Amino acid sequence: MLDPFGRRISYLRVSVTDRCDLRCVYCMAEDMTFLPKKDLLTLEELERLCGAFIDLGVDRIRLTGGEPLVRRGVMQLFQGLGRRIGDGGLRELTVTTNGTQLTKMAEDLFKAGVRRINVSMDTLDPDTFAAVTRWGKLEQTLDGIFAAKAAGLGVKINAVALKGVNEHEYDRMIAWCGEHGFDLTLIETMPMGDISGDRTDQYLPLSTVRRRIAQNWTLLPSTHQTGGPARYETVQETGRRIGFITPMSHNFCESCNRVRLTCTGTLYMCLGQEDAADLRAPLRDPSVDDAGLREVILSAIARKPKGHDFVIGREQRPSVGRHMSVTGG
Ligand code: SAM
Ligand code: SF4
Repeated sequence: MLDPFGRRISYLRVSVTDRCDLRCVYCMAEDMTFLPKKDLLTLEELERLCGAFIDLGVDRIRLTGGEPLVRRGVMQLFQGLGRRIGDGGLRELTVTTNGTQLTKMAEDLFKAGVRRINVSMDTLDPDTFAAVTRWGKLEQTLDGIFAAKAAGLGVKINAVALKGVNEHEYDRMIAWCGEHGFDLTLIETMPMGDISGDRTDQYLPLSTVRRRIAQNWTLLPSTHQTGGPARYETVQETGRRIGFITPMSHNFCESCNRVRLTCTGTLYMCLGQEDAADLRAPLRDPSVDDAGLREVILSAIARKPKGHDFVIGREQRPSVGRHMSVTGG
């Protein structure tokens, strides 16, 4: 599956729900209105759609959200997709989660074929964690992370770099990740969705962060590449990787290999653009068979734009109206 710029599309991120049990300040407003349940694709519909993407050459799928692990019955989807790992065409099935459900679900994720997960945790300080997530308890996420490790899952910690909030913690987080065998990825805030606040307050360029980190740690070049926006280095002292996701200050679009599907069946060809294709209508149209569904997907991929243009301006308006929890991070 090639887009108009010759990029091979092999990675699908699927937001299985827009709901979440937390309310991270950079991601959601506290009083979010969520989609009516009737608009959501069923788990069976999501599995059929993912299957069509796999048939077209997608070999990595990441389930995300919202919080993917709070969707009722979601393990059924993991199990269904897990059966396609290997000869079924899928190379890897992963998940991005806030970790709150992992003590219950980590073992089943491993059994379904998941081997690596990303857990979002912006701070190791319980008070800061409660402030950033509004409703979260650090301990619950930490318990989840260690349950995942015990279940045999590789863990990467995602932390959003927030000015004045966690900016003095990165050394501690690098050491902690090193101690427990986790990779760490730092993410710049992206202007997605109205969050009832001013993002210019939160934005901390990772170029600054990296410079500070390099004063205390030896950062070695890493060959690790995902086709995504993260650039990786290895922390010599811990042997673990550190990634920097810098959508605002670095353009990563040339190597983009991914598209994003929402829980309502809308396909976004670019995280930073509004153009989208509706896959729910053809999915629910009895006259459209699997071949027809693949045709619809291919025509959407043919519209994948060359790149994004996020701008964090002085104005309060986000440059992309939808929340990250809709498209999936
Ligand atoms: N709930 C899961 C979680 O938190 O990992 C999955 C969905 S969440 C939207 C995926 C990732 O997007 C998280 O790592 C989160 O920190 C990040 N994220 C959310 N809003 C963001 C924003 N405005 N800018 C940058 N990253 C954001
Ligand atoms: Fe929920 Fe993840 Fe958004 Fe936090 S970042 S509010 S955990 S979807």
